Amino acid sequence: MKIYADNAATTRMSRAAIDAMMPYIEEYYGNPSSLYSFGQQAKEALESARETVAKCIGAQPREILFTSGGSEADNQAILSAAALGKKAGKTHIISDAIEHHAVLHTLKKLEKEGFEVTYLPVGTDGIVKVEDLEAAIREDTCLVTVMYANNEIGTIQPIKEIGKICREKKILFHTDAVQAVGHIPVNVESEYIDMLSSSAHKFHGPKGVGFLYARKGIRLTNLIEGGAQERGRRAGTENVPGIVAMAAALKESVEKIGENVKHAAALRDKLIAGLAGIPHSALNGDAVKRLPSNVSFCFEGIEGESLLLLLDDKGICASSGSACTSGSLDPSHVLLAIGRVHDVAHGSLRLTLGDDATEEEVDYIIQSVREVVEYLRGFSPVWRDLCAGKTEFIL
Ligand SMILES: *Cc1c(COP(=O)(O)O)cnc(C)c1O
Repeated sequence: MKIYADNAATTRMSRAAIDAMMPYIEEYYGNPSSLYSFGQQAKEALESARETVAKCIGAQPREILFTSGGSEADNQAILSAAALGKKAGKTHIISDAIEHHAVLHTLKKLEKEGFEVTYLPVGTDGIVKVEDLEAAIREDTCLVTVMYANNEIGTIQPIKEIGKICREKKILFHTDAVQAVGHIPVNVESEYIDMLSSSAHKFHGPKGVGFLYARKGIRLTNLIEGGAQERGRRAGTENVPGIVAMAAALKESVEKIGENVKHAAALRDKLIAGLAGIPHSALNGDAVKRLPSNVSFCFEGIEGESLLLLLDDKGICASSGSACTSGSLDPSHVLLAIGRVHDVAHGSLRLTLGDDATEEEVDYIIQSVREVVEYLRGFSPVWRDLCAGKTEFIL
């Protein structure tokens, strides 16, 4: 069996997205900035994609800026809000401990430039407390940036409550919604969102394309200077095939959201129940306020990396919460933030199911994880010490 259970890392492009993009590679390859009709066909496709994308999140087309993906959108949103804040003498930003590195590293850069950042803690449930946010707000707060849903543990933040508070206090509110858009209903209007980042390859679109929503009237800082594309806010010839495919993928995902959520959540809960049966294991993050496709676990006494490699041998593509792939041996900042100690955080596993996942696949995953965890514990010195009572079980 071959099971792709790493949809939080990236997704397969949908047929609708591939079909939508092909004509703009093969036939309508004109430059949307060209004045002849051949270029204007590309321009029309671009603007139609902008309308589609806007509609999917409750925005106006002119509020959508196409980018190279989620990272760029995060960078541009945060740097823009910081520039606006600085101009007004406000250099305090509020974020939280479990953001994606595209947000965290941008904030680090701003801290070096003199900005002060408050990182809200999350509870063991992986969710920010609205009271903590309220308490952190200051006269000089220029931005609140809290992700919609977490990429590692899938927890969903109280976005509407946060947005409402920010709107009342006249503070810009940005949300990294890369894991949410196309997966759960998102509406920038009713949720008081000023800026939102999204990425096509997380909802069955192509890689290297995404968008930033910025509410009308918010002045954006350019990251890329050059031509006047994107109304002067991002230079460079537009990725027309990618953008057209993104719009098609998003439209289809949003149309099927109700059915997908129901299907995925049922399988997710089955998977959680199955893995919870493994002794000394625990689900990471809230069991209910989480993405319908996300299952994240810690297993005591094992290394997440070994677990992944053995699951790969069984045909299962999964991910671990530790950042070893990036060359560091530090466990995930997200797992540490929800209170997992280093040793426990090292034994983590993230499974993110696709819309097309089946019960048989979930059964196979449960069986495989059981076998692999038992096998690894069989020769783990950490596990031996735990069983011998030399160290104490945490989970
Ligand atoms: C994937 C991801 C990003 C980065 O998006 P790219 O398009 O790959 O740059 C940012 N934030 C979150 C939460 C993500 O999951």
